[in-house]
This record gives sequence, C-alpha cells and structure tokens, in this order.
Amino acid sequence: STALVLFRRDLRLADNPAWSAACAAHARVIPVFIQPEDDGAWPAGAASRWWLHHSLAALERDLHDAGAGLHLRRGEPLDILRALITSSGADTVYWNRLYEPAGIARDTRIKSALQADGIAVHSHNAALWCEPWQIATGQDQPYKVFTPYWRKLRPRLHAAAPLPRPSVPGWRELPGSLPLAALDLLPRIAWADGLAASWQPGEAGARELLEIFADDAIGDYAHARDLPARHGTSRLSPHLHFGEISPRQIHFELDRRGRAADATRRPDIEPYLRELGWREFAHHLLYHFPHTPTANFNPRFDAFPWAPADHAALERWQRGRTGIPLVDAGMRELWHTGWMHNRVRMIVASFLTKNLRQHWQHGARWFWDTLVDADLANNTLGWQWVAGCGADAAPYFRVFNPVTQAKRFDPEGHYLRRWLPELAQAPPELLHEPWNDAALLKRSGYPAPMVELGQSRQQALDAYAALAR
Ligand code: FAD
Repeated sequence: STALVLFRRDLRLADNPAWSAACAAHARVIPVFIQPEDDGAWPAGAASRWWLHHSLAALERDLHDAGAGLHLRRGEPLDILRALITSSGADTVYWNRLYEPAGIARDTRIKSALQADGIAVHSHNAALWCEPWQIATGQDQPYKVFTPYWRKLRPRLHAAAPLPRPSVPGWRELPGSLPLAALDLLPRIAWADGLAASWQPGEAGARELLEIFADDAIGDYAHARDLPARHGTSRLSPHLHFGEISPRQIHFELDRRGRAADATRRPDIEPYLRELGWREFAHHLLYHFPHTPTANFNPRFDAFPWAPADHAALERWQRGRTGIPLVDAGMRELWHTGWMHNRVRMIVASFLTKNLRQHWQHGARWFWDTLVDADLANNTLGWQWVAGCGADAAPYFRVFNPVTQAKRFDPEGHYLRRWLPELAQAPPELLHEPWNDAALLKRSGYPAPMVELGQSRQQALDAYAALAR
C-alpha cells in the first residue's frame, strides 16, 4: 500500500518517527511538503522563510540520494492531501506533531476530515523528549516553575538510541509538484548574504554543528555559554526549531562520547541538557497556556503602565543605534546573522522593556521576523521571562545594566568590536562607555545614548511599584 508522509518541522530523515514508521509499513511512500497560504496569527518571518527554503533544498537532495523525491505544494493542506490521496491511491497519512495552537487546531481538523474519508492518520513525536501532557504536578496540573518541572522530567530521560535512517521501500512521483522557488520563501531584496555566510540549513549542517560542539565546546559550556565573543554554545537552535536534529540525537551523541572518554576527562553534560530542558518547558507552557504569545502569563501585568509605542525609539533599537554598545552589538548580530547570543538576548530585551518601557510584544515581533530560530514557544518564554510577566520569570526589578554586563562578559570587548566597526579602534577604557569622550562619538559617528541608564531604570522601577500597589 501507499502512504503520504507530510513533512513540516521535522526536516530530517534520521530519527524521524513518522518517516520511519511509514517506510516500515508500506510498499510505497510519498514525502510531501505543503506551504499553507494562511499560516495563522504567526506566519513565519523573513529569516525563518529563508531558512525553510534552504532546509527544504537539503531535504530534497537527501531524499533524492535515498531514491525518492519531495512533492512540494502551496495552498490549503486538507484540499491538497485529498487530491494527492486520490491521485496516488494512498490509504494512510503520517506526520510528526506541531505544538503551536494554530498547528494543533489545523492538524485536529485535518485528522478528523481524513478519518471521515476512511484514511488512516498516524501522528508521532519528533520534536520533544516528552509530550507536554505527559508531565504534570502531583495535583495533575501543568508546571509553572522550571526547577520542579525539570526535577520531574530529568529522571525520565535516558540516552536512548535514535532511529536510524530507514531505507525507502518504493517511491512514486506524482504530477503537480512545484519547483522549490515557487514556494516564494526567499526575500525579494537580497539581504540574506550574512545568513548564508553563517549557516548551513539542513540535516548535514545540524550534524556538523553537533560534532563541533561535542568535540570542543561542551567541556567548558557551563562557563563559556555566557561569553558572547566565544562560540561557547551549540548554535543548534534553528536546526532544532526546524527539526533537522532531535533532542534525542543530541543527548545520545553527547552521552556516547562521554562514555567513550576517559573518566577524568568526561565532560559534565548536565548544564547543556538543562537548557534543552528549558526548551521542553517552553513547549509545555505554550501547550497548556496557548494564549501567552499575545497575553501576559501573569495577568497582574495587564495593568502595567508601558510607555506608548514609540516607533522612532523602536527603530533605533532594531537597527542597533541606541548608543549602548552591548545592545547595539546584539541587535546588529541579529540583523546580520539571524541569531543572537542568549545573554545578549536577555540584555537587549531588558533594555527595550525596562529602559525604554516598550511593551515586550514589540520586541517579540521583531525577533519573530529576524531570528532564524524564531520559535513561538521559546520566544514567548524568553520575552515574558525578561519582561517579568512570565511563568517563573525574572523579577521585574531585575534590570540588566548593559555596561556592567559588557564589562563582565565581554571584558576585552571582542564582541563589541566585531559588531560595532565604528568603535573598533576605540581605546579599551572607552569601548564600554564611549559617551565619556565626545570627540570619539563625533569622530566615529557612533550615537550618544538614547536614554540615561540610571534614570530610565529608576522610572521602570517606579512604574513597577505603582503596579504593585
Ligand atoms: P545552547 O546554549 O547551545 O542551548 C541548546 C538548545 O537549548 C538551544 O538550541 C535551544 O533549543 C535550547 N535553549 C537554550 N536556552 C534556552 C532558553 N532560555 N529557552 C528555551 N530554550 C533554550 N530560543 C529559540 O530557540 N527561539 C527563539 O525564538 C528564542 N527567543 C528568545 C527570546 C529572548 C528574549 C530570550 C532571552 C531568549 C530566547 N531564546 C530563543 C532562547 C535562547 O536565547 C536560544 O535558544 C539560544 O540562544 C540558542 O543558541 P544555542 O543553540 O547556541 O543555545
């Protein structure tokens, strides 16, 4: 019999449960990708679309090498699936689950419509260690605090062997597949050179980053993960978002290497697993609290006196022209590469929501459009955490000081010099506080700070105190 396998954000052939199950049970499999015309309230942003284009190109190549092809379409997924079922005679459809509210709603609708047509539908988990509904408190409630959540999840994780790439039983080409370019994912204006220079989307690119990280950075991760000038983290976030690699594959590989290493030189992989735990927690929260991409997790913040939306200020922040070096370096790294170091994400978010008192949703939307790893679960958690209104959030009164942070985590200024070329020649004592030398600002064209850090911090704390009363 014939099965359709719908690829979405599981763009890999190894450790792909839906793909493996279909290859094992059917004589013919037809891999399909459908770009929906209507993608709900959070259609993929420009950087994500760029990534998706290149990831699909990689998947096409991998499928071709495996003796199959990828059927590409645009439009309403249910209509297209029904047409493909008719033309192929398929009796079963496979996919791996999505966890965003719009994805869940669409999959539920498609599943019941296809089942009513007499088609079998099998869905699998390819993205998470544990389904969001499998972890619950003693009172059978979702967790709202990370540490007890992790304490519950961690003992359930075993470095189980991932599924190997299955061999393709048989494949049939169906008429009507679009060329990849017709999905219209690439930007019309060529702004993505920095992305292309920074990343290799696809399963092979993910594997390569994992090897580099496991060879080198894992041993020093707990310390170096905070240093934005170093490649101290895995940079696997966009690959994880698009499902080019799974948490299970990462865990297995790190564990395998640890076992093979001499006991005295075995790296501690727990701090890294814990960060993957935050990713699981973000998906747990989004699943159980699906309103949180656009609403405060903590409703007390609904009364918070945000400053009115200030488009000129937002633009300075987006373009990396705030006059605060670490904030600007981060925003320019984001614009150029589609990624930003985690510590710097916290600092630019704190600056926007506290020093500028702009609503966190303005920041979340900009990240959504510019990050190659834009992820509704992780982005919502990150912004609500920094803004102080989230589950298990940083307390609002914790306002990052971007100067102190830069001195502490980029003491030699390598990160600042890399992203702020106009300050590259500044003497070390001025790099973190260039406003102390008016001549330097004039000469370099670097802007004076758009707000005074101490005063704006105090105004944020006053606004918060008003809320607390
Ligand atoms: P590593 O340190 O190598 O961590 C490994 C993996 O663990 C990451 O790839 C990621 O999947 C997960 N992870 C790590 N930290 C976190 C975290 N704090 N929350 C959830 N998962 C985490 N991450 C995204 O993937 N997409 C987003 O849209 C996103 N938006 C963010 C917005 C803000 C304001 C903040 C503060 C953080 C955001 N993060 C987001 C989390 C984090 O910054 C990135 O996951 C991390 O920087 C990715 O780099 P890495 O792969 O080298 O991380």
